Amino acid sequence: MTLSIRFDNSYARLPDRFFSRQAPEPVRAPRLLALNRPLAEALGLDPEALASPEGVETLAGNRLPEGAEPLAQAYAGHQFGGFVPQLGDGRAILLGEVVAPDGTRHDLQLKGAGRTPYSRMGDGRAWLGPVLREYLVSEAMHALGIPTTRALAAVATGEEVIRETRLPGAVLTRIAASHVRVGTFQYFAVRKDTDALEALARHVMARHYPETETVLDMLGAVLAAQARLVAQWMGVGFIHGVMNTDNTSVAGETIDYGPCAFLDGYHPDTVFSSIDQFGRYAYGRQADIAVWNLAQLATALLPLIDPDRERAIEAATAALHGFPDLFKAAWLDAFRPKIGLGTAEDGDAELIHGLLDLMAAERADFTNTFRDLAEGRSPGRLRDRAGLEAWTARWQARLDREGTSPTAAQARMRTANPAYIPRNHRVEAAIAAARAGDLAPFEQLHQVLARPFDAQDEARAFRAPPAPGEEVRQTFCGT
Ligand code: AMP
Ligand code: MG
Repeated sequence: MTLSIRFDNSYARLPDRFFSRQAPEPVRAPRLLALNRPLAEALGLDPEALASPEGVETLAGNRLPEGAEPLAQAYAGHQFGGFVPQLGDGRAILLGEVVAPDGTRHDLQLKGAGRTPYSRMGDGRAWLGPVLREYLVSEAMHALGIPTTRALAAVATGEEVIRETRLPGAVLTRIAASHVRVGTFQYFAVRKDTDALEALARHVMARHYPETETVLDMLGAVLAAQARLVAQWMGVGFIHGVMNTDNTSVAGETIDYGPCAFLDGYHPDTVFSSIDQFGRYAYGRQADIAVWNLAQLATALLPLIDPDRERAIEAATAALHGFPDLFKAAWLDAFRPKIGLGTAEDGDAELIHGLLDLMAAERADFTNTFRDLAEGRSPGRLRDRAGLEAWTARWQARLDREGTSPTAAQARMRTANPAYIPRNHRVEAAIAAARAGDLAPFEQLHQVLARPFDAQDEARAFRAPPAPGEEVRQTFCGT
């Protein structure tokens, strides 16, 4: 069975200094662990061909499909606030861009495909844990309706990678609107390569923001996309964990799932990432960090915004100053339906914060508290009964004012408040089982997460927060 992929590689047509041509490094014994058949079909790829021995060889990087132009992208980035002028794909190879039957364009990238000129001290590989984790969490994010890169496949390499210990190697096939990052612009800005900046901006505008005419418009569109994205993360209790500028997609997708996590108990200061010592990327700081990252993008774009630097700074600053309002509007869009509201009223933010404050005081489970409301239960686990009663009275009055019946409010909330999120302890348990050769927990979790808003009564156990011994307090970059 031959695998045929309709490639049209626009990034590979950019100037040579945008990337290094680099083929994936073959692996010893590829074995398919997971294949996303619905995604394959949406991309116009034959799932049977992908699952065939030739397809698996392709997904492992052992065989190049016709039309692929493998390369590693160059980029820079601020990591935890410090600037690194050269990063780049150290363990990922872009095979090319697939044009789907619906006309949309997608990067097809192998993550963990071997060393590249940007690998520095790294081995260019990934181990099974982070590959399955990204597979589960990115697909859950998609099912939640949040823009994200996606997982097409995971293959075991039959090789070991050395981390703290010897671990089974794996390769993830990642699909993205593109892999252009804020750090891609920074890479050329720091080299004062205005021609490359211009070419990159044109590429991004044509690809992601065809409605924009100027670079300033494009900046505005990226700002709006990031505001929406971070607000949507917050609406499902997601913490990205490494919001560095090299992990910020200009297409507005969630990208680079490292030490990310979904909240169990709610508190805005929550941090999971083992490498985020100072809480820079805590749940409640994500909007501030997004605008900080976008200020780095704006800085990189200055030469393209106006030849007069003062005027460029003025225009870019004005755009950045629009972010708080964009974010506030997006946050309300994300949270209003979570309490069943269908209209906007002054005071809605205070009403929502009223509930969040009650939750934070006792670290109530984020997902289950909102889902309780959606299923017509009093958020039973909140112990502050007086506080809850006072809040409920305000909430009911607000719903009455807009004329939303309890049934209608619940129906709305059931489309905004998921019952199922990829809880850390479940993800960790699925990885542990897969390491021992049992993929059933991974597959079961994946299936439950594909329908996060459905009651799925047979899957109720997946709603439970971690038992005291099961809590995951730290997540690792796990490269
Ligand atoms: P990340 O933490 O995945 O955002 O990666 C940060 C940088 O480190 C990127 O340039 C990666 O390509 C690089 N990197 C991470 N892990 C490895 C690895 N195992 N081998 C080579 N480069 C890596
Ligand atoms: Mg990264």
